[in-house]
Amino acid sequence: MKITDVRVCQPQSPGCPDDWRNSMGQILVAVDTDSGLTGYGVGGGGLAGVHVVQTLLRDCLMGQDPLEIPARYAEMQKAIWPIGSRGLSCMALSGADLALWDLKGKAGNCTVAELLGGKAGRPIPVYVTVWDEVKLENLQGSRAVKLHVEQRADGADVEPVVEAVRQAREVIGPEGRLMLDAWMRWDLETTLRVAEHVAEMHIEWIEEPLPPDDLETYRELGRCCSIPIAGGEHSYTAAGFHDLMVHRVFTVLQPDVTWCGGMSALVKIYEMAHNAGMRLVPHRGAEVWGLHALAALDDAPLAESGRPWVTWIEGQPPVIDGTVTVSDRPGFGITVEESALQTVTW
Ligand SMILES: [Mg+2]
Repeated sequence: MKITDVRVCQPQSPGCPDDWRNSMGQILVAVDTDSGLTGYGVGGGGLAGVHVVQTLLRDCLMGQDPLEIPARYAEMQKAIWPIGSRGLSCMALSGADLALWDLKGKAGNCTVAELLGGKAGRPIPVYVTVWDEVKLENLQGSRAVKLHVEQRADGADVEPVVEAVRQAREVIGPEGRLMLDAWMRWDLETTLRVAEHVAEMHIEWIEEPLPPDDLETYRELGRCCSIPIAGGEHSYTAAGFHDLMVHRVFTVLQPDVTWCGGMSALVKIYEMAHNAGMRLVPHRGAEVWGLHALAALDDAPLAESGRPWVTWIEGQPPVIDGTVTVSDRPGFGITVEESALQTVTW
């Protein structure tokens, strides 16, 4: 099988952020072949990511065998070295890699979960990410919630965070699972102050309270904080996660398969986490791209709810009674109605 074209765009949909700069400018990569099969993957980086795929990565892939994923991956990694192997170039590469995995599944008439040694059909529990008020009717049958609270702690005043946690705990009940996300907006002191005030409300983790590269302060936080610290959605490559594990930066690691280097990277990250005895909870794990890895590689999977505006992928399994299940359709089990896509242009 040979690759005959590599196409890419940034789809737009109602409610979707209209700019890539908040990192949610997801791009769609399509890899066409002379077999008639097309593989689809999703990456990040908006139109900047689109440009990386259209130039560097397309040059690597054209005319090559898409089923030799390790060789294709190594060539794509090499192509982005001069512009930096992390950040948005890695987000672009993730989309191309996922398209190759989708093709490999379709060519073998099996799911990506099966390619990874697992199988479809296993219900995986979902936690729902909430930006405003936690309401039972928005939890899709789940009693696990992650609450964004980055805007609620202002210097020494952490009471708005405590109040939000109290309200969330009331809604999900004492047995519900509750996590907090500070999206890189706090510092060491604020995080410790919040942790002290919410500790008795059973918080499973505090996510990304500090800047993603401030590993030294993260380690200090890990030593002093009574609540486990999670992070990794803004970390990249298997090598990057290796460093996070060696230095015990986070207790819970959260790679995003559409940003961190695709399935080829996530498989390695899972293997390293198993060996290190560390917990992995992939970012947006209920979206189909990460879900196949959770189904195949995770002994105790917990999937984060997907972003509701990614409506241009058809076949994303719904959350039912707080769980999501990989379908048995080949590849990632999705289709794209390309003629209906609205796309972002310069
Ligand atoms: Mg987060």
